[in-house]
Amino acid sequence: MSANPLVSQVDSPNPEKLELVPPLLGATVAELTAWVQQQGQPAYRGKQLHDWIYNKGVRSLCDISVFPKNWRAELAQVPIGRSTLHYRSVAPDGTVKYLLRLADGQIIETVGIPSAKRLTVCVSSQVGCPMGCDFCATGKGGYQRNLDCHEIVDQVLTVQEDFQQRVSHVVFMGMGEPLLNTDNVLASLRSLNQDVGIGARSLTVSTVGIRSRIRQLAEHHLQITLAVSLHASNQALRERLIPSARPYPLENLLAECREYVQMTGRRVSFEYVLLAGVNDLPKHALELAQHLRGFQNHVNLIPYNPIKEVDYKRPSSDRIQAFVNVLKQQQIAVSVRYSRGLEADAACGQLRANERQ
Ligand code: SAH
Ligand code: SF4
Repeated sequence: MSANPLVSQVDSPNPEKLELVPPLLGATVAELTAWVQQQGQPAYRGKQLHDWIYNKGVRSLCDISVFPKNWRAELAQVPIGRSTLHYRSVAPDGTVKYLLRLADGQIIETVGIPSAKRLTVCVSSQVGCPMGCDFCATGKGGYQRNLDCHEIVDQVLTVQEDFQQRVSHVVFMGMGEPLLNTDNVLASLRSLNQDVGIGARSLTVSTVGIRSRIRQLAEHHLQITLAVSLHASNQALRERLIPSARPYPLENLLAECREYVQMTGRRVSFEYVLLAGVNDLPKHALELAQHLRGFQNHVNLIPYNPIKEVDYKRPSSDRIQAFVNVLKQQQIAVSVRYSRGLEADAACGQLRANERQ
């Protein structure tokens, strides 16, 4: 979002002018206050507007009952920036997958993952993804465009409203590569933290690694969690799985991760999809451990979730355990993350936008 996008527009109820207003979602309370004042309303209406957009989930400004009736009528055309629900499916484990339709008709996926004390939302940052990872359904489906800040925040509010429960965690692990859309992702992180009220440490950005972008992110000194999708223990193997990794050697990626830890004081977590016979051998675990020695990190192993385009296999649980054991012997903190939502095609890597449109 630009410096203060709301202040330069609408000063009359002329509907043509109102159409030029950018969606309000993603705006700070100060920006909303400036906007209402510009229209001759008292400053406190900015706080009310903020509350109705972020807490009450209003979808049309006409419905803000605390606003004067004649002003509400004028505001009818002002877009808040909410999506519409296109499709919803619930997996037996309670994970809910949503297909959301955006203002331009594009469809994105969002997943709500409930657990004992948490409600986690897995958000998309792009429509599709240009990175083309060989094991990922999103990567196989091509790329359309970046999401705007309001389209990211909307996903979290949609899940919150559907579950009637406050969202505690957000992970940028849906469709798309967040660090190809850094400005909008940063704006949405700010809004999720300050407007929606989710703690910075409960916001996780997952990236496959784009040269210089991890360092740029570190310069913001956010207390968010960074997850880096590694998936391979050497450059040759990584290039095979992630074609876009070719110009960005593993050594350079890891060097940027080390800088991230130094600059932010936060550890980095590494994601590693386990593919039977490809990257799951004890020698891979040993090689991985050697790369990760000496800086604060944590490895999340994700047993592969099948997609129809390729015939990778998920390793047996013995093989997974053997991989874990090698990492543990090497003093690497490790956990195995079995994805939720497999039955709803909502698990990691299974998200694709072109179904059921
Ligand atoms: N583009 C970012 C974020 C979205 S992908 C990234 O790649 O990090 C989120 C996670 O899902 C990544 O760790 C990714 O590697 C994983 N993933 C992709 N395809 C998968 C599959 N078929 N099975 C299991 N995990 C997968
Ligand atoms: Fe894009 Fe991440 Fe899928 Fe790779 S794993 S294609 S970076 S969404």
